[in-house]
Amino acid sequence: MPESARAVAETYRALGVAGLSFAASGNVSCRLADGMLITRSGVAVDEVTETDICHVDASGASRNNLKPSSEAFMHGDIYAAYPEARAIVHAHSDACTALACLGRSLPAFHYMVLGFGGEDVRCAPYTTFGTPELGRLAVEALRDRTACLLANHGMICHGTDLRDALVRAQKLEALARQYLLACSAGEPRILKTEEIEAARRRYETYG
Ligand SMILES: [Zn+2]
Repeated sequence: MPESARAVAETYRALGVAGLSFAASGNVSCRLADGMLITRSGVAVDEVTETDICHVDASGASRNNLKPSSEAFMHGDIYAAYPEARAIVHAHSDACTALACLGRSLPAFHYMVLGFGGEDVRCAPYTTFGTPELGRLAVEALRDRTACLLANHGMICHGTDLRDALVRAQKLEALARQYLLACSAGEPRILKTEEIEAARRRYETYG
């Protein structure tokens, strides 16, 4: 998938089709040599086109007179902190948001949690949306991880390209849904340290 405005728009639209985003909640970006492409503020997932994609330069200024998403700060901070991040998806998807509203991290209740880099997917503490503080807290929660929850808000993840970031968002939402379902039926068994280590070793050699 080319990292173009059209691809960013298609990924944001796909977020809506997958049921991870509704109306104008959430945003998508990809890294450029001189900044990023990010969905504009207020654009709905079912209406977005490539003309709704804002080019933000390295200083955070819009280059094409579109107002970037209110979370452009957070995307910029993540690109600055993690060179491997090439694309970012942020969503208020149901299960991730429900878990984040409990202020809980996603523990290793299933081995696939290890696919996000470690033994849990952390939940960053709450702060006001669209603030530089939210970017700082997200960067901290993403250390050695490719995704985190944002308390009383939603989730954010990064990937090697837009497709990778979108698939990660879908996987995280499925895991959060499964975890909440398990919690509603009882107390899920969390993998033991040696089981986590064995799963980690499998991930290191897996495909
Ligand atoms: Zn948000």
